[in-house]
Amino acid sequence: MNEPVRKSPIREANRLTVMLRTVLGEDRFPIDVEALAREVSRQNDDPIATIEAVDIDGFEGMLRAHPRRPHWQLLYNDQSQYPGRKRFTMAHEFGHYQLHRQPLTAGHYRDGELDNRFNFECLPLQSNKWKDTEGKREEEADTFASYLLMPIDDYRKQVGDLEMSRPLLDHVIDRYDVSLMAAVRKWIEFTDKRAAMVVASDGFALWGRASAAAYKSGIFVRSGLEIPTNSIAGMGSTGQHARSDQPIAIPSGVWNFSRGSEPVRELTFFSNRLGFSISVLHFDPLAAHHTVDDEVELMDTYDKFITNGHS
Ligand SMILES: [Zn+2]
Repeated sequence: MNEPVRKSPIREANRLTVMLRTVLGEDRFPIDVEALAREVSRQNDDPIATIEAVDIDGFEGMLRAHPRRPHWQLLYNDQSQYPGRKRFTMAHEFGHYQLHRQPLTAGHYRDGELDNRFNFECLPLQSNKWKDTEGKREEEADTFASYLLMPIDDYRKQVGDLEMSRPLLDHVIDRYDVSLMAAVRKWIEFTDKRAAMVVASDGFALWGRASAAAYKSGIFVRSGLEIPTNSIAGMGSTGQHARSDQPIAIPSGVWNFSRGSEPVRELTFFSNRLGFSISVLHFDPLAAHHTVDDEVELMDTYDKFITNGHS
C-alpha cells in the first residue's frame, strides 16, 4: 500500500477551522463534527456516507471502508460514560479520514468485496498495544481532534490570563462540548503559565504533563509519582477543599518534583465513577534568571497514559 503524503494534523485542523470561521463566523461552537465530516468528505469520490453509534465492547471508534462501494463508515462506541467523548472519537475518526486514509476507488472493488486492510480500528488510548506506526497515527488523529474541537486562538480568548478555576473550565467544556480531561490537557499544551496536570488513581499518578514553561523550570510529572497525602488530590473526594471553585494554596514541601518542592495552587476534580482525579497545579512565575535553559524536548508521556480514554 502506498503511503499517502503525510499531512500535519495541526495544519489540517487549522485549515478546517479557518473554513468554518469563514462560513459560520465566531458563533460556531461547539463544532458540529458530524455535519463537517459529511460536508467535507462529500467533495471526494469516497465520502463518509454513514456516521453511526454502535454498541460494541472493546473499541472506541472505527473508520471502515464499505465492503461493496467506495464509501466510508464512521462508527463510534456509544457506551462511553464520558461527556464529550463521543464527539472527540468522531473527530478522531474524521482525522483518520483526512490524514491517513487511502482513497477508495471503484477499482478496489473489481474483485468483489473489499478486504479490511483499509480500516482504522481505534482502541482507547493505550499506545503500548499499538505498533509504532499505528501509535503515531493514533496520536495524530487525537491531535487533529483536539485542534478541531478547541482551536487554540479561540481557547486563549476564553481564558485570557486567568488561572484555571472550576467555573472557567465549566465554561470551556460547555463551549466546546468536550470532556474535562480534554479541556485541561489542551490548556496545559498552550498556556504560557507554569502549570501541570496530574491524573491519579489509588494514590499514584497515572499520567501527567507540565506546560512548556513549567517543564523548562524542572517540573516533570512522572507516571507513578506518589500523590502527597496533604494535597487536595491526596485528601480525596471527601476532603475539605474537594469541591472548591478556585485553586487552593498548598505550601512548599507537599508536591515534590524532580528539582525539589515549591508551593502550588491546586484545583482537583474527582470522578468517583471513573475512579480517578485530575489535578491542575499552578506554580508561581519564576524570575527570568531562575529559568533553567535546558535544551530538552518535551517528553511525550502519552504512552504512560493508562486510563482508558482519549479524552
Ligand atoms: Zn484512531
